[in-house]
Amino acid sequence: MERQILLNGQSIRYTLSRKQVKNINLRIRNGEIFISAAKSVPLSVIEDFLLRKAAWILSALAESKQKEPNCESTVWLCGEQLTLPPDVNRDSWQKEQAAHLLPAAYEQAWELLKDAGFSKPALRLRKMKSRWGSCIPSKAVITLNTALVGAPVDCQVAVAAHELCHMLHPNHSKAFYTALYHYVPDYERCRNYLKSAQGFLIDL
Ligand SMILES: [Zn+2]
Repeated sequence: MERQILLNGQSIRYTLSRKQVKNINLRIRNGEIFISAAKSVPLSVIEDFLLRKAAWILSALAESKQKEPNCESTVWLCGEQLTLPPDVNRDSWQKEQAAHLLPAAYEQAWELLKDAGFSKPALRLRKMKSRWGSCIPSKAVITLNTALVGAPVDCQVAVAAHELCHMLHPNHSKAFYTALYHYVPDYERCRNYLKSAQGFLIDL
């Protein structure tokens, strides 16, 4: 049950749960107050309890709000920084964006390499810590890091093309790079961008 009370002139919200507990329990988490008390404890006793603890509650609330990671989280999408509302989970938001943007980037990369002499590998998306993508040539599977949605589209395409080139050359040999620069002449610029952006795109 959501309730409100005036503590030192401030209107404070709290959630009251009726439980089989002995005392009145008070818990503050992420700037929210949770009270539990037995059914038999009258509301006036609970409010009395809150009033007596007002100073402590107010300072604990202020501290808990400060500790909150950041009410609004910032994310990167296609090279631009956006602010997400506090109630949106960044990880699942990024996953959703990745699910429709990265297959599109992969298609663009495939357009560049479709005549290279191999059939189109399956695409998988996964959150990864240390790499933008990977390719298993023997299984014809390419995985792209969901964090790649933060990078500009041409960089997303460059990474997908890099992985597709591994279907021709599984290593990072000279022949691999010759092929890659043939299909993505601008690869160097994308690689530099991704190198410098790795910190904020992957570890946000
Ligand atoms: Zn590689």
